[in-house]
Amino acid sequence: MKRMTKLNPWGTNDIKDYPKLFEEFGVSPFEELLAEVSNPHPYMRRGIIFGHRDYQSVLDAMHLKEPFGVMSGFMPSGPVHLGHKMVMDEIIWHQRMGAEAFFGIADMEAHAVRGVSWKECTERGINEYILSMIALGFEPSGRIYFQSKDAFVKDLAFEVGTEANLSEMSAIYGFSGETHISHMFSALVQSADILHPQLSEYGGPKPVVIPVGFDQDPHIRLTRDIASRMRMFKVEKRDDYISIRAKRPNEEAMDDIADRVEGDVKLYAEHVDIYDNDDLKNIEAIVRSVEIDHGGYGLHPPSSIYHRFMSGLTGGKMSSTNPDSIIALTETPDAAAEKVKKAKTGGRVTLTDQRKLGGEPQKCTIYELLLFHLIEDDAQIAEIFKECKEGKRTCGRCKALAAELMIKFLKEHQEGRERAKEQLEEYGLKL
Ligand code: SF4
Repeated sequence: MKRMTKLNPWGTNDIKDYPKLFEEFGVSPFEELLAEVSNPHPYMRRGIIFGHRDYQSVLDAMHLKEPFGVMSGFMPSGPVHLGHKMVMDEIIWHQRMGAEAFFGIADMEAHAVRGVSWKECTERGINEYILSMIALGFEPSGRIYFQSKDAFVKDLAFEVGTEANLSEMSAIYGFSGETHISHMFSALVQSADILHPQLSEYGGPKPVVIPVGFDQDPHIRLTRDIASRMRMFKVEKRDDYISIRAKRPNEEAMDDIADRVEGDVKLYAEHVDIYDNDDLKNIEAIVRSVEIDHGGYGLHPPSSIYHRFMSGLTGGKMSSTNPDSIIALTETPDAAAEKVKKAKTGGRVTLTDQRKLGGEPQKCTIYELLLFHLIEDDAQIAEIFKECKEGKRTCGRCKALAAELMIKFLKEHQEGRERAKEQLEEYGLKL
């Protein structure tokens, strides 16, 4: 039996072996879908988004101009930084592609897991995360919310809890007898965060993508399972017919399904078989609407996309507890430029070696900054990579370029954050 890699959603994980993760966790490579994405985000083009679960359903909806959603959020437990910006960029890109966008502040999680006070959660949620989200381009047609202030999310979390048991939660999150109940409940609230865009209050069932780092995959897997468990019916294509089975006897709902679908319909006590109609998508939509009419949710399992983690500027992990490893979106441009100048590169010890052996951009935090955030033009990035590998570039030149671009980005971003303060009301928020 293979040993499972333990992932801790509340800690940090240094994940290098992505192919192994595909195999072990059943994530699919994003590359296989890239050609189907119109105007892909640079993270997609550059392999920074490396994996997905069921993103095809989101792409199909995007292409057919059918409703789809994007949802993610943050625990307000530290300063907003470039790592958070990645998720924000992904939400905003999907919103521009037509998604109904949801951005949650996980204040219940911050309070339960990190002991952050409610006041601090609200202030940090707005001052750090929400202002940056708006400054980066999130439109008011999307929804920004705090978990603790959303009755729909909290009610759904309770429902989610009826389908999740303690042993599976403990296996995923490492809960023990010492873990307090609110910590456990906050995990259910996160599943509710992911599923709530499909509530009828928000337009009903639809494909929804959750952009996250791979460390969040345990939440995704659990939530996909729960979404399936919460379904009242199972729809399956068999050889020459489509079968609809009720998970619990519900004669009235079965009758409704039999009435609404077309084809040669055979109604049994706990299932309906449909011949002469192979329109699975349409039948699934009918079954979902019957499910909702009978008090169910008709949920789609949420999709996900996974991005690579950025390294910390000092070489290890990016962590708010080591301020030199991150660039906060709120720090002064000059301070950020200083960090860039001190950052770890993939350069050789001497200039002679650099010229002879070439640098190692794949191990270089400056290259990562340029690749992830600072250079939009693929050709320019490719040129820097090539010049580095061929020993034709010096790290000093890259650092100067990255520092200059970082100053420009932060200045503009921080001006945007100031303007965002005036826009909070449009999102139903105030400072
Ligand atoms: Fe990094 Fe540039 Fe140095 Fe290459 S030359 S290692 S890309 S800083």
